[in-house]
Amino acid sequence: MKFYIKTFGCQQNKADSERLAAAFKNRGMSAATDYASANYIVINTCMVRRSAEDRVYGLVQNLAKIKAAKKGKNQFYKIIVTGCMVGLAFRDKTGQYLQLIRRLMPGADEFMPIEEIGFDSQPVRQDQKHALVPISNGCNNFCTFCVVPFTRGREISRPYNDIIAECLDLKSRDYTSLMLLGQNVNSYGADLLLGKENVQVMRDLDKTYFDKSSVKISEEFINNQSNKNSLPRNFHRKKPIYVKHLGRYRIPTLFPFLLEEVARLSFAKVEFMSSNPWDFSNDLIDVVARNSNISRTIHLPLQSGDNAVLKRMNRWYSAEEYLTIIAQLKNKIPGVTFTTDIIVGFCGETNDEFQNTVKVAKLAGFEKVYVSMYSSRPMTAATKVLADDVPHAVKKERWQILEDLINKPHLSFRKSFINRELIHSSSTT
Ligand code: SF4
Repeated sequence: MKFYIKTFGCQQNKADSERLAAAFKNRGMSAATDYASANYIVINTCMVRRSAEDRVYGLVQNLAKIKAAKKGKNQFYKIIVTGCMVGLAFRDKTGQYLQLIRRLMPGADEFMPIEEIGFDSQPVRQDQKHALVPISNGCNNFCTFCVVPFTRGREISRPYNDIIAECLDLKSRDYTSLMLLGQNVNSYGADLLLGKENVQVMRDLDKTYFDKSSVKISEEFINNQSNKNSLPRNFHRKKPIYVKHLGRYRIPTLFPFLLEEVARLSFAKVEFMSSNPWDFSNDLIDVVARNSNISRTIHLPLQSGDNAVLKRMNRWYSAEEYLTIIAQLKNKIPGVTFTTDIIVGFCGETNDEFQNTVKVAKLAGFEKVYVSMYSSRPMTAATKVLADDVPHAVKKERWQILEDLINKPHLSFRKSFINRELIHSSSTT
């Protein structure tokens, strides 16, 4: 029996597919090189944009033809759909989305939640030098345009020691670089500290993180100061970092500790993705600054450079705060560069609002931008209460403006000018 996995979407989906492949291999199956020679087809779906969803419908339709031909020859062929579309279908309590995908994918044999694949077996990694290491899954932020909190659910962090153990194992197998992955890596650990049900309400708690998962030692032993130096290396007792936002502490996070501990394992390069601007603490900036093997290219999604649009998006930072983080990083980390995500044509985005995004993009001097034209996603607040009222032609025009401004290499002279401008402006922020 052979399996074939088709992955749509982000790095997190790629990491999930590596664990999916492990689950099939553990059952004695081998990887096929194409759809036709496999017996099990697994489609790991993405919903971040409507176009990604449409591609899945098209693919299942085509695969259904292969299935029919195989059936004629009495050959086993099973189409399994998993990933974000299935995540949303199982979280939609009305059952409507599940009905919809069943109707649009009659050829699919099974809809499998990705959570069924755990972390118990060694992922089948696509790259033998660079590894993807998931540290959390899901998101609690509910940006109004984003379907992720519905496809992946609330944020759940992997145990700290499990992540370190995976990184140590990668080191022993000569991996030279890795990427720590999560929807919002900066908030890693809040649920470990507060319990996942309480993250939204218990942000101000002063707690200490104590990971007992791999260390069997009594509290009495730990509290005895004279035992301090004999504690095992993988023992973790951390006072979390709190990020203040609008005068109150947002959530406690363990990410700066985790990132530094991974960086100290001496990989040539450690990356992390994605970071949200409102959780990018000074402690995190310092960790990046003092560990030169942490990537000097930081992905920091802007989404919009206009404060009114950010508010409609439920993004809790202003354009000025965003630029302040960029300036702080530039001041502390020589040579740091930035990539970003921007949505154009979000509900009600006026030309003036878009021009504010262009202004911030110029000031930030991004190395690369992933621009997307807003498309309404099921279950999101934007779909429920805002109108998708920017014409497609206008979205396209705005998309092109940002592409030309940031992603065209011949404009690089502009970036050095922009960097000088930012250094000047940052002294006033
Ligand atoms: S932070 Fe916002 S954009 Fe990012 S995954 Fe969470 S809800 Fe989506």
